[in-house]
Amino acid sequence: MRFSGWRVLREGLTGNKGWKPHWRDPEPKSEYDVVIIGGGGHGLATAYYLAQEHGITNVAVLEKGYLGGGNVGRNTTIVRANYYLPGNSEFYSHSLKLWETMEQDLNYNAMMSQRGIINLFHNDGQRDSAVRRGNSIVNQGDDAEILSRERVRELAPFLNFENNRFPIMGGLMQRRAGTARHDAVAWGYARGADMRGVDLIQNCEVTGIDVENGKVVGVQTARGPIRAKKVALAAAGRSGQVAAMAGLTLPIESHVLQAFVSEGLKPIVDHVITFAEGHLYISQSDKGGMVFGSYLDFYSSYAARGNLPMVEHTMESFVAMVPALSKARLLRSWGGIMDMTPDGSPIIDHSPIDGLYLNCGWCYGGFKATPGSGSVYAHLIATDRPHGAATKFKLDRFRSGVGLMDEEGTGAQHNLH
Ligand SMILES: Cc1cc2nc3c(=O)[nH]c(=O)nc-3n(C[C@H](O)[C@H](O)[C@H](O)COP(=O)(O)OP(=O)(O)OC[C@H]3O[C@@H](n4cnc5c(N)ncnc54)[C@H](O)[C@@H]3O)c2cc1C
Repeated sequence: MRFSGWRVLREGLTGNKGWKPHWRDPEPKSEYDVVIIGGGGHGLATAYYLAQEHGITNVAVLEKGYLGGGNVGRNTTIVRANYYLPGNSEFYSHSLKLWETMEQDLNYNAMMSQRGIINLFHNDGQRDSAVRRGNSIVNQGDDAEILSRERVRELAPFLNFENNRFPIMGGLMQRRAGTARHDAVAWGYARGADMRGVDLIQNCEVTGIDVENGKVVGVQTARGPIRAKKVALAAAGRSGQVAAMAGLTLPIESHVLQAFVSEGLKPIVDHVITFAEGHLYISQSDKGGMVFGSYLDFYSSYAARGNLPMVEHTMESFVAMVPALSKARLLRSWGGIMDMTPDGSPIIDHSPIDGLYLNCGWCYGGFKATPGSGSVYAHLIATDRPHGAATKFKLDRFRSGVGLMDEEGTGAQHNLH
């Protein structure tokens, strides 16, 4: 079933009776070439690129709940390639390019909106670091520009320019950044993978990973055992728990990150805007809600809701920067479980167990990584070699120090990424 303007028109005029389910609901087979654990954005994108780029279609994605019910459907939808550090910079550049063609590739409307991101700076030090980051982004081949205070005021007149404590001195803008409809991204990749023969199996929790003589041979699931030549983790916030099923301890802590959405308001915020004070980020959804968030809750947890001090901090930051919206009502808030690594960068690598692959440690930035992660992970699984855009995301950097962002003197602070 292909989507087009004509199709939408025809269905609209004929009672919408011709739409078909986007994917099948197959029974699990007893054996696959590749089993992917986790039907979030990364697992589904990996399955799609395995089939599309490498012709590997005897693949199952096993999801314990429903497709897209994890973080891929819980994030604040920001997509960008404005990373500073080597390793991340080229990876997110690769990912943003895939975002730009994804809707055509998948024949699916993911509501990709390149509305631009503006990272505000409030003091000389932040300005210098924004300039340094901008130069690094441009050197990588992506777009970045420094905005003066006056230019920021033209683009976003609703911001608080009179705040003495956090004066807005200007901003770093990336025009190709923006937002996408998060769950549509999962659905688009799911549909694309299913069309190419991948089995998407929902309500199928993986409860064990079978290893014989140092090699993975399959998984135990809520729907019975499944044998597999290769098993690929894509379980995001649950990565530590799933890896433990194979006896592995990952350098990952799971933390809650909250997000918030206000009641629908008239269009006011045209871009994604981030405030260096309080690490606040906001955009306005197509329905008019302000979508925003800030820091992690900063303690390990598997809860899907966050704590009140962080709610208070986020609201304070929001009202400090956009006092005009202080009377807007909050519609809802929620949390998602983030797989945090010590250096804020992901792991995409072989595991010490033959045939078991790792894709985790996305911290709070994995949505924008979805197409890039799927493409480089599929490359690793298919060829057993790292993709050129993801050579630094090795597991052993935490043991050896080699390639660790911190060891290279570029800093281990998460928000530098
Ligand atoms: C509030 C919030 C805001 C965020 N904002 C942004 C943002 O603006 N931009 C950005 O780039 N990133 C953002 N992120 C991060 C991003 O959402 C995640 O890094 C990314 O979605 C993780 O990859 P995923 O989509 O594959 O995860 P998920 O969708 O969580 O997929 C993992 C899947 O694995 C399944 N699973 C787990 N254990 C098992 C098991 N044993 N068996 C079978 N299945 C299992 C889960 O059910 C889940 O569906 C945000 C996250 C949150 C929570």
